[in-house]
Amino acid sequence: MSRTVYNFGAGPAMLPRAVMERAQEELLDWHGTGISIIEMSHRSPEFESLAAESERDLRVLLSIPDDYYVLFLQGGATSQFAMVPLNLTTADGTADYVRTGHWSDKAIRDAQRHCRVHVAAGKGLQSFTTIPDPQTWELSDAPAYVYYTSNETIGGLEFQYTPDVGELPLVSDMTSNFLSRPIDVARHGVIYAGAQKNYGPSGFVVVIVRKDLVGHAQPSTPRLYDYKEFADSKSLINTPPTFSWYMAALTFEWIRDQGGVAAMERNAIRRSDKLYRIIDDSDFYRNPIERRHRSRMNVVFTLPDKSLDDVFVKEAAAAGLVALKGHRVVGGIRASLYNGMPDEGVDALIDFMRDFERRHG
Ligand SMILES: *Cc1c(COP(=O)(O)O)cnc(C)c1O
Repeated sequence: MSRTVYNFGAGPAMLPRAVMERAQEELLDWHGTGISIIEMSHRSPEFESLAAESERDLRVLLSIPDDYYVLFLQGGATSQFAMVPLNLTTADGTADYVRTGHWSDKAIRDAQRHCRVHVAAGKGLQSFTTIPDPQTWELSDAPAYVYYTSNETIGGLEFQYTPDVGELPLVSDMTSNFLSRPIDVARHGVIYAGAQKNYGPSGFVVVIVRKDLVGHAQPSTPRLYDYKEFADSKSLINTPPTFSWYMAALTFEWIRDQGGVAAMERNAIRRSDKLYRIIDDSDFYRNPIERRHRSRMNVVFTLPDKSLDDVFVKEAAAAGLVALKGHRVVGGIRASLYNGMPDEGVDALIDFMRDFERRHG
């Protein structure tokens, strides 16, 4: 590689360089075994120790209480759109969902196959620029759980707090802001996060689930969709995505060595603030999201004229700033600033934006 490239893609996304380098160093010979982690049995003592250590690291990083299982699954975050209702409701039970954008909509559509879905907030909205205050949520009488998406990756909206739903199990899709801030695990029933945004390769997902919610899956639930099967087998029902798990483990270690999720949060605030400041200080760039709900992870913005989008994306790529195109359903520009994005990348983007505005403004 002859030049520095900063990858602003929303996922699969940029991982910390040190993690990628370590994986490269260890690729052919994992810890003196003479074989690659890719080639190693998931039932070997070596892999079992890696798995156990990754769970320990994650428990420390997020202060996960003992009455929660930490499960490592395949199928990506999307698997959880079905797995949550299958495990937490009955076919005629009701679950409450908060609509804040594309990913909550996807979760709703899947859940509708497995239970009754009540949309508690955001019903009928076509575009999403704010998060309805939890005080205004219209919860049903006795929902099996209340579901929210803590960061809408496409819209660029993020919950900056844990919503209060009393004693009801709170379920959160934290795929795109996982490990970017401390979270209050004890106030949730289920937290899940696909890996490819903030901590590893795609296809892999971590589920943190309160133990009393496990063991009640709907009778038709496939074994691979039953939390209990994973809890009982230490997530080794069948062959897990061992390489992805290993990469996630390396990222957990890296986060720990950087100072944990508190350090990740400081980074995320600093980097996103810089970028939002440039947008707010200009008449050229615009971000439509209400300030207090802006995402630290996915900064979306528009240019004065849609026809400039492609020019911006192309010129940025030529300058080594890649994957800035907004999601196809919303257009515009999106800069994703996950844990792996260094400050230099954000600074380079800001310099480019200033220059682009001078030339096209
Ligand atoms: C990317 C994403 C998903 C889907 O992840 P897959 O691993 O592709 O299934 C779900 N939810 C959120 C918030 C996401 O950002």
